[in-house]
Amino acid sequence: MLTELLKVDAEHPDPREIARAAEAVRRGELVAFPTETVYGLGADALNAAAVARIYEAKGRPERNPLIVHVPDAAAARELATWTQLADALAARFWPGPLTLVLPKRDIVPDVVTAGGSTVALRAPAHPVAQALLRAAGTPLAAPSANRSSGISATRAEHVLRALDGRIEIILDGGPTQGGIESTVLSLVDAQPRLLRPGLLNVEQIEAIIGPIARNKENDESSQSLPSPGMLTRHYAPKAALELALDDGYARALELVRSRHRVGWLRFAPADGVSKPFAIDRLRVYVMPRDPEGYAALLYDTLHALDAWGADHIVVDRPPMDDAWLAIRDRLTRAAAR
Ligand code: AMP
Ligand code: MG
Repeated sequence: MLTELLKVDAEHPDPREIARAAEAVRRGELVAFPTETVYGLGADALNAAAVARIYEAKGRPERNPLIVHVPDAAAARELATWTQLADALAARFWPGPLTLVLPKRDIVPDVVTAGGSTVALRAPAHPVAQALLRAAGTPLAAPSANRSSGISATRAEHVLRALDGRIEIILDGGPTQGGIESTVLSLVDAQPRLLRPGLLNVEQIEAIIGPIARNKENDESSQSLPSPGMLTRHYAPKAALELALDDGYARALELVRSRHRVGWLRFAPADGVSKPFAIDRLRVYVMPRDPEGYAALLYDTLHALDAWGADHIVVDRPPMDDAWLAIRDRLTRAAAR
């Protein structure tokens, strides 16, 4: 199969390009598209055969359900048993990087929910995603557009590298802004539960609806939790990634001296004085000290290090507060063996 790359303007996509992609969706084909988080790999969510092709293209385990993308809350109501809480959250955060898990309606094929009785729903804010959804006139099941357990794609080039020849169309709207995946929140039980931290900060959600239940961070038992996407190794580059608890510089140098090709994601030193690192086999990235800025660059940096051929990546451990929850989650899973 030939994968077609269609360049579109991120803010004002050409309706002709969008129409071609929407027709492909209606034919049961796979279309990758930019969202405000990462690139999604979309198929008509109401067409079971089309959705099955997503799992095949990604090599995704069949027990890992997909997020269904809709233009707005009205479209979401047709797919799930909607609640007041869902209404409040959608009114505040949609379109945006929040995914809500609710009891599914019969119209949603089992393959979308991995046989489960709940469905994950999100209205993306990106103009290209919105245009595609409205032109297709059908909800889009869309996981991240990467091979299973790899790093999510934040650029069309990443999608192409991972899925060339496996999908029909990539809408190239340039790099995505958010850089990490949406926050997944279950509204199935009486108390809302965080299934996956993500681009929308938990503190912002709690400011609207009060405390939400969470799993203990990095709990090994998380594999038995209801979000099977929380596999241990995930979001991982080819290189072995490790978190440096104190001195990333010393660790990176040690690896370079034992002949490794090393990437180091560091924070700028507080005193502004950087140590020298004029060494061939070391690439150093100075990462932003704010979580949004960090998230926007994280996957892009890991993709760049993979392309350069790094075999080890050392990452300075991020701060321990809630604002960094999603970053810590991704780094811990990327470091898992
Ligand atoms: P991805 O689209 O690759 O970013 O992954 C989607 C995430 O949403 C995974 O962590 C899934 O396990 C999670 N998810 C999707 N549907 C459900 C559901 N019905 N219940 C719980 N988690 C879900
Ligand atoms: Mg994914």
